[in-house]
This record gives sequence, structure tokens and C-alpha cells, in this order.
Amino acid sequence: MKVLDKKSDIRSEIEDARRSGKKIGFVPTMGFLHQGHISLIRRAKEDGCFTIVSIFVNPLQFRPGEDFHRYPRDTNRDLSMLESESVDAVFTPSTEEMYKKPHLTEVSLSNISEKLEGAFRPGHFRGVCTVVTKLFNIVKPDRAYFGWKDAQQLIIIKKMVSDLDFNIEIIPAPTVRDPDGLAASSRNTYLSLQERKRALVLSRALQKIKEMVEFQQITDAAALIECGKEIINSENVELQYLEAVELENLEPVHTIKKNTGVLGAIKVGNVRLIDNIIWE
Ligand code: AMP
Repeated sequence: MKVLDKKSDIRSEIEDARRSGKKIGFVPTMGFLHQGHISLIRRAKEDGCFTIVSIFVNPLQFRPGEDFHRYPRDTNRDLSMLESESVDAVFTPSTEEMYKKPHLTEVSLSNISEKLEGAFRPGHFRGVCTVVTKLFNIVKPDRAYFGWKDAQQLIIIKKMVSDLDFNIEIIPAPTVRDPDGLAASSRNTYLSLQERKRALVLSRALQKIKEMVEFQQITDAAALIECGKEIINSENVELQYLEAVELENLEPVHTIKKNTGVLGAIKVGNVRLIDNIIWE
């Protein structure tokens, strides 16, 4: 497994693989890897791709006062996990390598970037789209793998790829959960044992909504959301949003059907967590 931190080195490594006829599969991450990341990597490997993982905590997608500086990092642990997954190459650039100063260009999408997460984290998706565009230009993958865990991010990336004519197939993968139902996330490490118990209320509410839709055939979004909010508000957490939306454009929907989802965010103490259920 090659571990490279220079754009020029990763480019030439990938070019060699491409020349040998391999498809390039790319899994961008911010590191501190968990089973969610591993599921994306296994998908890429199963697809027979030359698999590249990037580890880069992107300062541009954190707002002032957010957790950029304390975001969990453990590159040695990450690399040994990647080695056991037989990843082909890992790109670990520094901030200076990624953003040569002055860096003046940013990529942003209107409308869908401003809703839900965007309303609570203005500018977040501009940071995400800018770094993903740069990584796509460096890696030039045939396929890139993203998790439904970050549903809005996935929807925005798909739209960006279509709008900007990137010749890249975006492959979505289901949310991986811990045995207690909590969606795997690098940020779960911030939670104390007590907070983790409280945090479970989000996945519990989503699971209840899923059951109401799938077993009781209740599809009225307002009723489902009301029930979900009641569950969340019964716990000592701050509900930031819980909305039923169309997956393509994140517009609110009145009825749950194919291609809709319920997306939610809560704060447990100082820790912000997101989760969702989708009907693809
Ligand atoms: P991150 O390192 O948090 O930026 O995530 C990198 C990629 O892993 C993104 O495509 C995420 O959506 C995906 N991911 C994060 N958590 C999960 C999870 N629990 N299940 C599936 N994919 C995930």
C-alpha cells in the first residue's frame, strides 16, 4: 500500500494503475476510520477497482468555532486499518499541499446547500464541494464512493458532478450502525457514556418512523415527523431539525414514497450528530 502526501506522487501512482487497465475507485475521508468508511472501501474493492483512500481534515468545511482543531486524528491507526483492507494507495496531503496560498477559487451550489445542514453550518458545503472538486481533479477516479450517512452531502456531490460534467460515477452506500443503532461516526468519540445513551434517541426516532411507514403504511409526513419529534424531545437533547424531503432536491414532501427521506440533526451537550432514513 502506497502512502503519498504529494499531489504529483499520487497522480503518477494512479496513472500507472490506469495504464495497466484498472478502474480507479476513490473513497474520500477525514480519517479516524470506522466501519462506515470500511464499508465504502470494501464496495470499491468488490467492484474490482484500484482503490484510493484520502485522509484529509479539510479546514474549509469547518466554521469558526466548530471542531476543526479537536477533530479526532490517528493516522497510524487509520493506515493499519487500510493496510488490512488491502487498499492500493492512500493520499494524506497536508493543508499546505492542498491549498497553495492564496487559494481564491471555491465551488458552491445554490439552494440545496442552504437547507438543513446548510442552515446550521453556513458555508459548510462550499468547503466540501471545493475539496471534493480538488480531490476529483487530483485522483480523476472512475467511481467515487459516498455514504448515505451524510445524505445531504451525497445529494449535493451527485448534483455537482452532474452540473459540472465530471466523468465520475458516484456510488452511494448504506449507513453502517453500531450494534446499539447509533450511526457510526468519527465524532461519536466525543460522546461520554451518558451522552451516547441520550444520542440514541435520534436513531430510535428514525427507526420508529421507518416502522410506521413500512409496517403500518403511514405515509403522511407531518404525522411521522410529529411522532419523531415527540420521541426526540422526550430526551435531554437539542433537536435541530427533523424533515421529510425529496431526495433529489431536498424540498419538503407531504407523503413518504420512493426517493424521499427523513433527515435529522441533534445536539447532545456540545456534540452535533446527524442521521437519516431514506427510501431509495
Ligand atoms: P468523513 O470521514 O466523516 O468525511 O466520511 C467519509 C465518507 O464516509 C463519507 O462519504 C461519509 O458519508 C461516509 N460515512 C461516514 N459515516 C458513515 C456510516 N456510518 N456509514 C456509511 N458511510 C459513512
